[in-house]
Amino acid sequence: MKSEGALEKILEKGEFAVTGELGPPKGNDVEVIRQKAEYLRGNVDAINVTDNQTSIVRMSSIATCALLVQMRLEPVMQMVTRDRNRIAIQSDIFGATALGIKNILCLSGDHQIFGNQKEAANVFDIDSIQLIQCVKTMRDEGTLLGGEEKIEGKIRLFIGAAANPFADPFEFRVVRLAKKGKAGVDFIQTQCIYDMDRFKEWMRMVRERGLHKRVHILAGVTPLKSGGMARYMAKNVAGITIPDSIIGRMVKAKEPVQEGVKICVEQIEQLRQIEGVHGIHLMAIEWEQRVPEIVKQAGLLPRPTAS
Ligand SMILES: Cc1cc2nc3c(=O)[nH]c(=O)nc-3n(C[C@H](O)[C@H](O)[C@H](O)COP(=O)(O)OP(=O)(O)OC[C@H]3O[C@@H](n4cnc5c(N)ncnc54)[C@H](O)[C@@H]3O)c2cc1C
Repeated sequence: MKSEGALEKILEKGEFAVTGELGPPKGNDVEVIRQKAEYLRGNVDAINVTDNQTSIVRMSSIATCALLVQMRLEPVMQMVTRDRNRIAIQSDIFGATALGIKNILCLSGDHQIFGNQKEAANVFDIDSIQLIQCVKTMRDEGTLLGGEEKIEGKIRLFIGAAANPFADPFEFRVVRLAKKGKAGVDFIQTQCIYDMDRFKEWMRMVRERGLHKRVHILAGVTPLKSGGMARYMAKNVAGITIPDSIIGRMVKAKEPVQEGVKICVEQIEQLRQIEGVHGIHLMAIEWEQRVPEIVKQAGLLPRPTAS
């Protein structure tokens, strides 16, 4: 085993995995984390903790993950290369694994221009693919990046990364996934999927290259809260495509909350049928309380045991 974590064990057993996203507080209020964590407990196999997503300052992913470990939950520490050079990255990986973190999601990160600290320095010393290589070297070779310095102790991490099947140019998306696979990624979590036809086409290209046999692919889903949210995301969030049929359903719905949950459950049912999809990644942005009913309605409970 690479990590001895529950997520790795469940995926290696061939079970359909469920991960859920938790956004840390914009401050140090631990109660916010506790409350969100309790909505996810028992409903997901591992909890992704975002790293200052959209470049908005929040509690660090490492600290939030360490709190989840204390709560006997399994976190996936998201780490962006936007804010750290390779010294800070490797130092943080030492600390994170010492604190009991077993999964990492390697990301470049949203540009700081989208956030609340637009003047921040843009580090990007290494990119997401180099970060994957770095973690793999630390884990499998027991050395720092560059291969010379031996590490004291053992790094055990299940290595993940993101993929966006909806960004342009479309053909480049699978090439980028292949590069992440070659760098040593174990699992992939995708951007949220609304355009099922395009996702199916992406998965066809993934299977054509045999990538689904080397990397576990977890399909991203985000429940829509309202017609306004659907319209906003379709218009303003780069790399997200929402078909007019879904926007129409949300806009016309008498009970938009229930309609959003229903659409999400339907999407999960469709994703489960696609060859090569090994799980879902539920990103219920600031809506973690809806996770239990979505997972239940999608027939994904009870969650399998890791042992
Ligand atoms: C599941 C998930 C979780 C996320 N969590 C966070 C988070 O916690 N914090 C945060 O800040 N952001 C987060 N993001 C956003 C993400 O980091 C950005 O959307 C990023 O631009 C794309 O993901 P990446 O980091 O893996 O990018 P990468 O695969 O590293 O690519 C970065 C961008 O540059 C483009 N690119 C790279 N190389 C080339 C090239 N040679 N030619 C042309 N284009 C190129 C890619 O296509 C991509 O658009 C998340 C995204 C997803 C899907």
